[in-house]
Amino acid sequence: MKFCNKCKRTYDDSQQQCTNCKNKRPLTEITDENTPVYLISADGFERERIQSALTENGIPNDSVIREEDVAPEIIKGYSSSWRDILVPYAAYSKAYDICIGIGAIKPEGEVKVLDEEPQEEFEDMPPAKRATVKVISAILFIVLAALVIFGTDALTGFIKGLFQ
Ligand SMILES: [Zn+2]
Repeated sequence: MKFCNKCKRTYDDSQQQCTNCKNKRPLTEITDENTPVYLISADGFERERIQSALTENGIPNDSVIREEDVAPEIIKGYSSSWRDILVPYAAYSKAYDICIGIGAIKPEGEVKVLDEEPQEEFEDMPPAKRATVKVISAILFIVLAALVIFGTDALTGFIKGLFQ
């Protein structure tokens, strides 16, 4: 496993350069199990929640300011509390599982565990299909509304006819 010295993202051995930050230097082989590596980015309460879950499970962790947020607030025009959470490389998979357990990482999240089977989500419809379903429900609604209106008219006419 390799990692980027700058932003601490981990990569497969086949990867040559970091795709996350602008670090042009080649990725470094992880030789020390204690090397801090990137786990997840979070802010505010979510970050506290993740970090305390890690600590409770005996995983040392640290949070650092995201690189793009290092510029003074006056320059970037907003204040951000987003931090990258780092864990020792040796504890990475356990930390990852904890994050999934507490719902901080979805199994298909931005951090990928290589040995994990991709999980299929049957509920997730592609956007095109979702749009079609919406159009069909809209048409059905109009047809139903028309039936109610015309049906009532016909019924009223029929009842009136009985008493004439
Ligand atoms: Zn990087």
